[in-house]
Amino acid sequence: MDIPEGYEAYFGGVARRRAEISARVEAALDRAGRAHDAARLVAVSKTVGVPEVLCAIAAGYRHFGENRPQELARKLEGLEAVPGLPALRFDMIGNLQKNKINAVLGRAALIHSVSSLHLARAIAERAARRIDEGASVSPQDVLLEVNISGEASKSGFAPDELRSAMDELQGLRGIRLRGLMTMAPRGDKDRARRTFSGLRALRDELEGAYPSLDLSELSCGMSEDFEAALEEGSTLIRLGRVVFDPAFELE
Ligand SMILES: *Cc1c(COP(=O)(O)O)cnc(C)c1O
Repeated sequence: MDIPEGYEAYFGGVARRRAEISARVEAALDRAGRAHDAARLVAVSKTVGVPEVLCAIAAGYRHFGENRPQELARKLEGLEAVPGLPALRFDMIGNLQKNKINAVLGRAALIHSVSSLHLARAIAERAARRIDEGASVSPQDVLLEVNISGEASKSGFAPDELRSAMDELQGLRGIRLRGLMTMAPRGDKDRARRTFSGLRALRDELEGAYPSLDLSELSCGMSEDFEAALEEGSTLIRLGRVVFDPAFELE
């Protein structure tokens, strides 16, 4: 695969940072006694264009995340025009409005950001319809976004709200629950870590209450806090700036 013309230096930076990120990820997993394949990295490409994504692919990334349905569609369309790409996977990680659900189904492998019962029902209904119409063979994989830190600015289920919604959520035919997702408070390392461990504890509790469910995915950790997230059990770290921004400095 070729580096887009004029992006050679940018590619060099992405490849260098990828090596550094991989080393940090492995060291964090080692500290937690976890296997190196226990977590995967989602490269959040929401702020960059197709050429930067091509550089990331050339550097070895295969799993991407977008936070807006229109941008997800635009990226996929741009990449479809490029011959010889390896298999890629895109996830939806951002706030999803009900009227944009159809733009995401069939495009996103996993929706990380199911933040209310209302949204879960709407996704399930549309995904079930796609199955009935033969447009899809399997339910949509989703994560339930939980507001662990309790900040008013964050979306997601409050933990108690999730506990009471679980009976209905687990029965929705169009979706398959795969785990939980959260956003940690910024700029406070201790609170971020407590948010990650709180997410894991809630997952363990729900798996205990619903033994037939497999809630193994924990989507948490971003550029500034992914090492703590991995130490606390994250299986999907969502990294934007540290992957794509040449100015972002790892601590
Ligand atoms: C932008 C974004 C990220 C990546 O954030 P960085 O701090 O750039 O790593 C992760 N998750 C979600 C939901 C985002 O919107």
